[in-house]
Amino acid sequence: MAFINEHYLKLQAGYLFPEIGRRVSDFKSAHPERKVIDMGIGDVTQPLVPSVIKAFHEGVDEMARIETFKGYGPEQGYGFLRESIAQNAYLSRGVEIHAGEIFISDGSKCDTGNIQEIFGHENKIAICDPVYPVYSDTTVMAGKTGSRKKNGYYEGIIYMPCTEENRFIPELPEEVPGLIFLCFPNNPTGAVATKEELKKWVDYAIAHKSIILYDAAYEAFIQEESIPHSIFEIEGAKRVAIEFRSFSKTAGFTGTRCAFTVIPEELVAYDSKGKTHPVKKFWNRRQATKFNGVSYPVQKAAAAVYTEKGQKEVRELIAYYLENARLMDESLQTAGFKVFGGKNAPYIWMKTPNNIPSWDFFDKLLNEAQVVGTPGSGFGPSGEGYFRFSAFANRENVLEAMERIKHLS
Ligand SMILES: *Cc1c(COP(=O)(O)O)cnc(C)c1O
Repeated sequence: MAFINEHYLKLQAGYLFPEIGRRVSDFKSAHPERKVIDMGIGDVTQPLVPSVIKAFHEGVDEMARIETFKGYGPEQGYGFLRESIAQNAYLSRGVEIHAGEIFISDGSKCDTGNIQEIFGHENKIAICDPVYPVYSDTTVMAGKTGSRKKNGYYEGIIYMPCTEENRFIPELPEEVPGLIFLCFPNNPTGAVATKEELKKWVDYAIAHKSIILYDAAYEAFIQEESIPHSIFEIEGAKRVAIEFRSFSKTAGFTGTRCAFTVIPEELVAYDSKGKTHPVKKFWNRRQATKFNGVSYPVQKAAAAVYTEKGQKEVRELIAYYLENARLMDESLQTAGFKVFGGKNAPYIWMKTPNNIPSWDFFDKLLNEAQVVGTPGSGFGPSGEGYFRFSAFANRENVLEAMERIKHLS
């Protein structure tokens, strides 16, 4: 008899985006003549920039000639890309991260999900509420939790509510976790953490021998000079943190797939006898066993992001989305909504009018304005009464959606 992994049975049946998809398609079949504008899902809309496309083509051409053909690449990623990331994403900002500490992958979703595999089952996991659902769902799949409680929390996870009162920056947990997921700029709230706020977390992790799993997928959207782009800008962080970065939102790679994870040499975890082990060695072993690298043309395309021309082009791309966010912030505020985020992140986090439940507001917006957003409660119980708009839509659609929302009853 083959037994199923029963931990999967604990997962919430209707995952957020399928449920949105179902409601939207029901509406569309009932009203085929209405144009629905999607401001919901966190996917980019603008094409890859010219420098990236050129490098991508060259990479494909190299694969077509016997002299330059490449088979399996290094599981950790090609040296040219790892060196370029170390130089341009870290050393240029005064952060000493070396190529050997950088692992190229096909996505931060995979890496944030897979990373737990190298840590023991006895670790308690701390997760923000609301947040990107991948961290908790993969914790459940790994069997590190009990069942799902009525309020949507899984037994065994340490939840850290992020609310208006704490400006969507969680408090240090009382119960000490082994692993702490943090994500700044945040999806869904658009909140960013200052150096002082991150320093508190790094000091906490050092004091408790915990490890911070820092998701910086939206780092490129940071506009304010004083906001750190990397957790490694904080003193001591290399002893206690892993950082996840992705080309998905930075350079429009959601359909192209390239990301990287940084594990500093000095980061250690403990065995049951209290002996330390370098975490990097374990991730390297995991990747070398279960992963065969990202395709050569994609890595070549990713490296083009760091050329002078590539940087200029992706900055324009980011500026386009941030201008969308600014327009949305302005219109929604004018329309009387209470709005957060959107300044250093491509997400607007909004209070629903009169505190109506997130899904009720979703239905109202769909029925009355044919605009789709994401119900805040889908990101965790503390997201109830909030709503997320993504700034990744086309400008034209953003303007039309905002116009329609203005006339909402
Ligand atoms: C989009 C996103 C990612 C990126 O995932 P990829 O697999 O690299 O496309 C990572 N973390 C968060 C919070 C995201 O929203």
